[in-house]
This record gives sequence, structure tokens and C-alpha cells, in this order.
Amino acid sequence: MNPFLSATSLTDTLMRPLKDLRLSVIDQCNFRCTYCMPKEVFTRDYPFLRAAERLSFDEMTTLARTFVDLGVEKIRITGGEPLLRKDLPHLIEALARLETPAGKPVEIAMTTNGALLAAQARALRDAGLGRVTVSLDALDDAVFRAMNDVDFPVARALDGIEAAVEAGLAPVKVNAVISKIRNAHQVLPLARHFRHSGVNLRFIEYMDVGGAEGWRLDQVVTAAEMRALIESEFALVPQAGRASDTANGFRYADGGGEVGFIASVSRPFCGDCTRARVSADGKLFLCLFAARSVDLRQWLRAGQSGQLAQAIRASWSTRADRYSEQRGALRTHGGAGRYPVVRMSLVGG
Ligand code: SAM
Ligand code: SF4
Ligand code: SF4
Repeated sequence: MNPFLSATSLTDTLMRPLKDLRLSVIDQCNFRCTYCMPKEVFTRDYPFLRAAERLSFDEMTTLARTFVDLGVEKIRITGGEPLLRKDLPHLIEALARLETPAGKPVEIAMTTNGALLAAQARALRDAGLGRVTVSLDALDDAVFRAMNDVDFPVARALDGIEAAVEAGLAPVKVNAVISKIRNAHQVLPLARHFRHSGVNLRFIEYMDVGGAEGWRLDQVVTAAEMRALIESEFALVPQAGRASDTANGFRYADGGGEVGFIASVSRPFCGDCTRARVSADGKLFLCLFAARSVDLRQWLRAGQSGQLAQAIRASWSTRADRYSEQRGALRTHGGAGRYPVVRMSLVGG
């Protein structure tokens, strides 16, 4: 263990421990989801990070090890679209070897749009990936193609989900971001499709993150509304989850499996937010809506592991972010211009 670290757990100003790391491996994506990377903004000329600006796998592994020494128990690989990063299984292999100071293996998960998953699921599993979450916002092919805005067929995303199940990346989760203007009518078809499949479907409220410039509160379908829609057809039973679980978990009363609702807007869960986010170029963000970031790459490239740990420790211990709990006030009092600033495709959700 690094001598600059101590075994005591690192907490922020709201006493939230550092437990999870979301590591973005690339800021590019093969989709142009209209609420995340709208085509008008993410054009051919968009200044995506150059390869030399992105952290190497060695740098990411050093970074992850430092976070683990400071308390992180779970690492989620994200993007942009993480499967666009070449040789990703090499990184997974290195991360899967990490252990917590107590000697426990670190959980390695990934969030992907599933487009390239059918071809890669087995290699990712063999490299040590534990679980995968696939984002899928519609079951109807035309709606899915319109939402990804690159005409990608839903059948191929479903193939990716099936390949993940077959590879044993269990339990496979599917996340659907629902908004009134795009896909509210997809809630029930998605629920019906994934019942009895072993896949855990979670519905997410549409958020005002960077990328969703046209966001309006009245476009949000709340978790309660989505739950009521499902309960119009299937009885649900609540399940107890761990404190930092973002999803409100339910199971179908008839044994059809699990379904969850992530109420990021209507019932924010900042009090349990133990997640640090690092962009592909090594910037630390303390909140999905953070206005500022801390450059960790400088310490990685200088080989200064003590400074690196110190920078993370100093940032986390002064963290006070709780944007979702303050959203109302911030947006009403002229905050809308200041928030959000960081793009979801850079920090990875
Ligand atoms: N490309 C991968 C994917 O789509 O799964 C990983 C990165 S993507 C930024 C991570 C997650 O952020 C996806 O599940 C996506 O649906 C979610 N997301 C993006 N914009 C969002 C928004 N405005 N509101 C809620 N979730 C959003
Ligand atoms: Fe790409 Fe994921 Fe954003 Fe869609 S949500 S544009 S798949 S990064
Ligand atoms: Fe965490 Fe920020 Fe989201 Fe609150 S708004 S749950 S602090 S990322």
C-alpha cells in the first residue's frame, strides 16, 4: 500500500465515504442519442480527446489502484462508448487483479450501449469483467433507431444483451432513460420483454445533464409514474437494497424477476452518493453536475503517486456536491446557466 495513504476511510463534508469509481475510457461514441450527444453538437469536427490526451491503460490502472487504496470497492468502466476503446479486455484484466486493503477483490462492471457487445462479451468476461449494464431506451425498432440517431437496429442491441447473459456477466442490467417526448410508451413493452429473462430492467428519469440541453422538468416521467404504469399490468413487491444503490428495487409478485426505478430527479439520492468520476483524460469530477474538475493526469504522468493520492484525498474530503437535491433552487435562481457544465459523454453517467 502507498505510504501516503492511511487505512481510515475517506469521507466528504457530508460524511459520504468514497466507495465507487466511474472510469471513462473514451469520450467518443458510435451512437448520437438525442438526449446525450445531439448530432448538431457532436459533429464530425467535434474536438474529441486525442489518443495522447487519454490516459493509457497503465495510467488508468495506477489511478484505479490509488482509488482502491483510498476506499473504492467497485469500478465501473464507462464512456462515451467504452467498447470503442481498443483492447479493452487488457485494461479489465489489470483492474480485476486489484484488491482492497482488506484483501477483497474489487468489483469490475461496465456500462455500454450494447452495439459491440455480442462480439466482445466472452472476451470481457474472460478478462475478469463481473457485470454489465446495457442502455436500451426502446424495444420498438423505429423508436430505438430514432433515439440513437444513427439508425442502429434494436435487434443487434438485444443480441448484445443475450451474449452478455450467455457469457455469464450476471446479473445483466438494462437501463432505460424515459422521457415524455420520446419513449414513455416503451415502458410496458420493455417490462414485458425482460420479465422472466433473468435481466434486471431499471427505468431512469430523464436528467438535465450536459448533453440534454433541451431538458425541461415537464418532460420527466417520474419513477412513481413509471411504477404505476407497470403496476397497471403486473403486481410489484418492494425489495430492500444497499444504501448506495441508486435503483429502487422491486420484484414481480408472480416471480417474473426484478425491475427498478432510478428517481434521480423526483427523489434525489445525493445523501448516499459515494461515486467519484474520472474522465478519459484523467479529470476527477465529484458530481455528475460538477462545475469543476481536478487534473489527476499531471501526477500520473509525472510518476508522483503521493501527489496523486493527496489530490484525490484533498478533493474528496472537501466535497459538498449535491446538485440533484438543489436542482430546484439552482435552476430557479439563475442557476440553469451555470449547471450543467460537464457533458455526460465525457464523465460517463
Ligand atoms: N455509452 C454507454 C451507454 O450508453 O451505456 C455509456 C455512457 S452513457 C453516458 C451512460 C448512461 O448515461 C446511459 O445509460 C445513458 O442512458 C445515461 N444518460 C445519458 N444522458 C442522460 C440523461 N439526460 N438523463 C438520464 N440518463 C442519461
Ligand atoms: Fe453514446 Fe451512451 Fe451517450 Fe448514447 S448515452 S450517446 S450511447 S454515450
Ligand atoms: Fe451524486 Fe451529484 Fe448525482 Fe447527487 S447529483 S447523486 S451528488 S452525482
